[in-house]
Amino acid sequence: MIRFTNTLSGAKEPFVPLVPGEVKLYTCGPTVYDEAHIGNYRAYMFEDLLKRFLKYSGFRVTHVMNITDVDDKTIRGANAKGVGLEEYTAPFIRAFHEGLAVLRIEPADVYPRATAHIPDMVRIIKGLLEKGVAYRKDGSIYFKISRFPDYGRLSKFDLSELRPSGRIESDEYEKESIQDFALWKAPKEGDPVWETEIGPGRPGWHIECSAMSARYLGQPFDIHCGGVDNIFPHHENEIAQSEAFAGRPFVNYWLHCHHLIVDGEKMSKSKGNFYTIPDLVQTRGIDPMALRLLLVSTHYRKVLNFTFEALDQAAAGLRRIRDFLFELETRAFPAGSSPEIALLLVDTRAKFDEGLADDLNISISLTALFELIRRVNVLIKEDRLAAGDAIAVAAYVYSLDGVLGIMPPRPGERDLPAELRAKVEAREKARKARDFSLADKIRKELAAAGVVLEDTKDGVRWKIVRTSGGS
Ligand code: AMP
Ligand code: ZN
Repeated sequence: MIRFTNTLSGAKEPFVPLVPGEVKLYTCGPTVYDEAHIGNYRAYMFEDLLKRFLKYSGFRVTHVMNITDVDDKTIRGANAKGVGLEEYTAPFIRAFHEGLAVLRIEPADVYPRATAHIPDMVRIIKGLLEKGVAYRKDGSIYFKISRFPDYGRLSKFDLSELRPSGRIESDEYEKESIQDFALWKAPKEGDPVWETEIGPGRPGWHIECSAMSARYLGQPFDIHCGGVDNIFPHHENEIAQSEAFAGRPFVNYWLHCHHLIVDGEKMSKSKGNFYTIPDLVQTRGIDPMALRLLLVSTHYRKVLNFTFEALDQAAAGLRRIRDFLFELETRAFPAGSSPEIALLLVDTRAKFDEGLADDLNISISLTALFELIRRVNVLIKEDRLAAGDAIAVAAYVYSLDGVLGIMPPRPGERDLPAELRAKVEAREKARKARDFSLADKIRKELAAAGVVLEDTKDGVRWKIVRTSGGS
């Protein structure tokens, strides 16, 4: 049985989707006012692990991730640059998709943009006005939180004990300023304006996700995710809007990942303490799969402290897996297979699956995988592994790629591109001609392209150490 910690109840609950075998998942996507940093990708990576694990467990997953292309920050950025919203956000949207591909994050089924869903938002706001849950003030429309008795349920505060006063216009605010929040903002100098049934203006941030989730997933749906900083006010407000409008529950399971921090502080644009994927992969030559393993390997409900040392450790873990597969594939083993290995695989699979099923406890799963590698390596050293065992173990390890997304390409998927193959041959020629400086130069060029050579008594072997994106 799969269990997740539901922020709504604060407890670990068995996961039961609304429709057996199907999961509807909504994850808050990027606000495209700047390039995403690896803190943002930590959230996307946790959601990727969640989705991959659900699929690995046999569920069909429909995943929607919105793109916030109109809010306070995007408008501010576009105005500062003197361009329209669309022109301003386009490069950030492109960079975001590139980042996902580099980290092998599986794409969502839909990436709806806020600016393309204004009529959906207007429909909800209109309904809230009709129900008397929203009101107009100076051309803007606000949600009246005192009309929604459940307000505070997600972020765990008791509205009856607080005295919220006044209204808040800003999309982001702290718990200390619990107030009626803006659903629709009156036209302002420099703001984009939509002429709509509820008047001219532009949407607040929170209504965007209520509208886009309902459009693609209906209401209620199964799982809604984001970082812990989204709990208040963003997700609290989404619940208020959607439930007050539709008169039924919004989401069954809320899963939130903790922050990625550097030097004890949340990585964020405003603090200037951030790295982007190009900073790490292109500038520093970091293997994107090591970054993936690092981001995925800390439990999502724990703070992830980003250090280059931790990145080195992830790279070492990745190397262990790759070297292990390489041994299994390239060594000559005696024929046959053993029941001991079959049992070891059953045991590993059980531990691996149980770990992730227990609120995505990835540490247990990775420990099971590394323990398998350790034990099989001992057998290899002692010449006790048979060819059938090697095939079975390699097949199992590759099968985990669906959920982990860090494995090298399988044999057959990894033909070297012609120009690299030519380089391997040129190096062999140089070596045979005893031109070691040329051979060495070519070896370095290959290494830079992610291909590592190993000279054995049977000739040269090569392996690809980069599997994705980071050329
Ligand atoms: P934003 O683009 O600011 O709306 O953030 C997009 C997603 O990244 C949200 O789910 C945030 O909660 C998440 N996020 C932002 N900063 C961090 C961080 N340092 N660590 C983890 N998640 C973050
Ligand atoms: Zn959202």
